[in-house]
Amino acid sequence: MHVLLSEVSDTTATRDYGRTVSVVVVGAGPVGLMTTLQLARRGIPVRLVDQRAEPTTESRAVGVHARTLELLDSLGLADEAIAEGAVITSVRMQTKRRHLTVDLAPAPTRYPFVLDIAQPDFEALLTRACADHGVLPERGVTVRGVTQTPDSVAVDFTEGESLHADYVVGCDGARSSVRRGVGANLTGDFHGMQFVIVDADLDTDLPRNAMCATFAPDGALALVTFPLREPRMRLVLPADDGLAADEGAVQRRLTEVTDGRSTVTRWRWITPFEVKHGQVSSYRHGRVFLAGDAAHIHSPIGGHGMNTGLQDAANLGWKLAEEITGTAPAGLLDTYDLERHPVAAAVIRSTSKQTRAMSWTGPRAIARSGLIKAVTSVPLLRHDFLRQAMELTIAYPDSPLSAGAAVSGVRPGDFAVGTSSEIANAWRSTTGWFDIVADVSAEAAVVVRDWAVPTGTRARVRPDGYIGELTAAGSAPTR
Ligand SMILES: Cc1cc2nc3c(=O)[nH]c(=O)nc-3n(C[C@H](O)[C@H](O)[C@H](O)COP(=O)(O)OP(=O)(O)OC[C@H]3O[C@@H](n4cnc5c(N)ncnc54)[C@H](O)[C@@H]3O)c2cc1C
Repeated sequence: MHVLLSEVSDTTATRDYGRTVSVVVVGAGPVGLMTTLQLARRGIPVRLVDQRAEPTTESRAVGVHARTLELLDSLGLADEAIAEGAVITSVRMQTKRRHLTVDLAPAPTRYPFVLDIAQPDFEALLTRACADHGVLPERGVTVRGVTQTPDSVAVDFTEGESLHADYVVGCDGARSSVRRGVGANLTGDFHGMQFVIVDADLDTDLPRNAMCATFAPDGALALVTFPLREPRMRLVLPADDGLAADEGAVQRRLTEVTDGRSTVTRWRWITPFEVKHGQVSSYRHGRVFLAGDAAHIHSPIGGHGMNTGLQDAANLGWKLAEEITGTAPAGLLDTYDLERHPVAAAVIRSTSKQTRAMSWTGPRAIARSGLIKAVTSVPLLRHDFLRQAMELTIAYPDSPLSAGAAVSGVRPGDFAVGTSSEIANAWRSTTGWFDIVADVSAEAAVVVRDWAVPTGTRARVRPDGYIGELTAAGSAPTR
């Protein structure tokens, strides 16, 4: 299907915005869809364009982490996503002789697991949610670049047309044309490792409810498996030794690594993948914002790429909506870069280290095993590992939006929802800011994130679920 921009009004939104819209989102991948959903559910006129004539069939990102599941829950989408994926309840590291397992259940979240869902299924779910708000991707239109004036942005298409908008969000992936259009570059360490990535139906005794990393006798990582809906699995195989992305070579490697106990019964997708790291220096360029892979790319270890992008979208969406509706305080849009740039920078740092550590052999591999053992057996280390891995440490304490002082370890800028279904219900029922007051008789009283706060503590919660202002019992609000 090829849809020219001039033809799209029949196939897309039920609303006709004419030639000027508030926001054009470029790229209908997971991040563009989430950005669109965040805007459309707040009634903002938005158009979503993508160069692909059809949605992707490539299952690239598979892991959805707890913080993203909490976000999906706020949109009423978590149950549907869980029904379409596989619930991963532990992480297992194994050699031929022994294995260590980290159980995800103790993580301080209402979603103590990783949801593995194929990217096309996840995108389809987000597309349906956007359609419920009257917006469908306009497909087969390729953005060539953007030109901005102080008052608007023109999105230029290769088809020769332009669309004018108040703001543009470039969610057009690692090779972003929007990024190029604003003169920004991904800079970083581009000399990554080689992998072969496979989605296949697998006859195997590898665990179906655990993400499993298998190490070779020399200590180097040999195979990582992420179960998808049975019998499908995502396989990641290091390929610095020249492993070819072809079926015969992958099956031979699989036989060797699993002692003949894993056979592919159906090949779905196979691709070489080179780890690249990079980030733009700023996520905002006047009226143009960058989100997802357009702004940051890194190793897929830990599955943070798509999750980080989805949370960019959740952070930006409500801020753009407030700016467009005239309710934003001065400088609100600048806090998108201030808050989200450090998050991806930290992901790039940690995934770079982890990726390098996975290739270690000999004494360094022994040291790595010792560290893994400590993480699985020392409760405090395990708690920190879980919070980090499941993206539960993300917080904006240094943001200009975070007001007030910490109460019992809970800081302004921390995520408010955590394990409390009462706070989650409050978040689900609004697209705006909301207040919570701790009360011993309520569940909200005892758990904000995973800490207790005294009765009477007040939190003003932002539309993306983070605490904007925290006030101790008996104190006056700071603003
Ligand atoms: C082989 C591979 C394996 C991966 N594995 C994982 C994993 O296991 N876990 C994980 O978290 N992440 C993984 N990733 C990364 C993950 O896929 C991305 O982080 C995620 O897809 C980013 O979403 P996005 O919406 O920002 O970009 P994308 O998913 O790349 O979407 C960009 C969209 O923009 C459109 N577009 C591009 N240019 C234009 C243009 N000029 N005009 C109009 N439209 C345009 C594209 O058609 C596309 O639909 C993997 C990536 C690859 C390539």
